[in-house]
Amino acid sequence: MLRGLRAFLGMVVLIILPFLAVADVHSVAVQGDGINTRIVISADTEMVHDEFLNNERGAALIVDVGHKPWTGETINFSPQAGIRNLEWIDGQLVFWLDGPMMIARASDLPPYGRRASHRLVIDLVSVSNARYLRAAKRDTRRLNRLTSERRLASADSPRRVEAGGQRFVVVIDPGHGGADPGTSHHGAVERTIVLEAAQKLEALLGANSLYDVRLTRSDDTFIELEDRVKLARDWEADLFISLHADAAGTPEVRGAGVYTLSAKGQARVDRTARGQNWELPIETGEAPDEVVSILGEFLKRETHSNSEKFASLLIPELERAGPILRNTHRNENFFVLLAPDVPAVLLEMGFLTNRSDARRLSSDEGQRKAMAAVARAIEVYFEQQAVLMAQN
Ligand SMILES: [Zn+2]
Repeated sequence: MLRGLRAFLGMVVLIILPFLAVADVHSVAVQGDGINTRIVISADTEMVHDEFLNNERGAALIVDVGHKPWTGETINFSPQAGIRNLEWIDGQLVFWLDGPMMIARASDLPPYGRRASHRLVIDLVSVSNARYLRAAKRDTRRLNRLTSERRLASADSPRRVEAGGQRFVVVIDPGHGGADPGTSHHGAVERTIVLEAAQKLEALLGANSLYDVRLTRSDDTFIELEDRVKLARDWEADLFISLHADAAGTPEVRGAGVYTLSAKGQARVDRTARGQNWELPIETGEAPDEVVSILGEFLKRETHSNSEKFASLLIPELERAGPILRNTHRNENFFVLLAPDVPAVLLEMGFLTNRSDARRLSSDEGQRKAMAAVARAIEVYFEQQAVLMAQN
């Protein structure tokens, strides 16, 4: 969706703030036309920096320069290059944007020649509002995390992460329930095992304030497949994990299996989304149909690739924790995997037709071990997501 970076044909550089002899951030310059915009931040010493898109009080780019003081003159900014205003707030430069933009690249340039400053060059490119909003949502979580880490690091801070900050919504879906027991062998019943496991996973993740963990059912009730997906979508889940236990014709077959949406399943997504009235979280506004459809495709692809990514992190963790099925990553068109906007996997925790799997999955210890593996994969997955967004 990123347009190719065109040359900066717009306005020429406008130096806003004069150089001052003391440390540290002393000037900011912007250039461009709001489609391609370049920001140059100069400081006396190298900057440890991070960038965040934010939409809490209008479109903004927040550039954190790591506690550096502002030593330039008072910021007196006139709207230009797609930037409507600039503020310096607690070691962060806040660029208020005219429209949705994302960072195409950010580079550090060391001092050279007569330019004795370290420079941070940030190239912004105009993007669709939908894309901007998704990025801003993720960035806001990273920003909240940075803020709470700093608060924790400072001695006089309350030792709690601020409530109300955006957190990753993880939806755990214990399969079956109530009148639908799922499979049962060797005294082990799927609906019970998956609920117990889900509650253990909830407890494991709940200890981490980064996660908002929700269960599609927390007792022995039956829930329609459609409603499981609806819950995940209504909660704006960042990840959906459906827990099941399997059965096989031969008692020797054992081990965990991980399923993501198959190609056949992907072909079902559109039809299902229409049938279920699942509206995609993209700004349609006055955009022509082709654009809406391209954005929809983009969203589905991203969702699918995130599901695959999570599955590829989950498998090695499961392998360390217990037996897994050979060629364990399989593709299926299970209904619960069909949401076009929620990365989802289905985990078959093992085979109840296998005596040792049935025993393992019925035991507290076996469930705890399996869910600890899932929790580790979730943590790595969201760390990677945060890093990816930071590089974006
Ligand atoms: Zn099942």
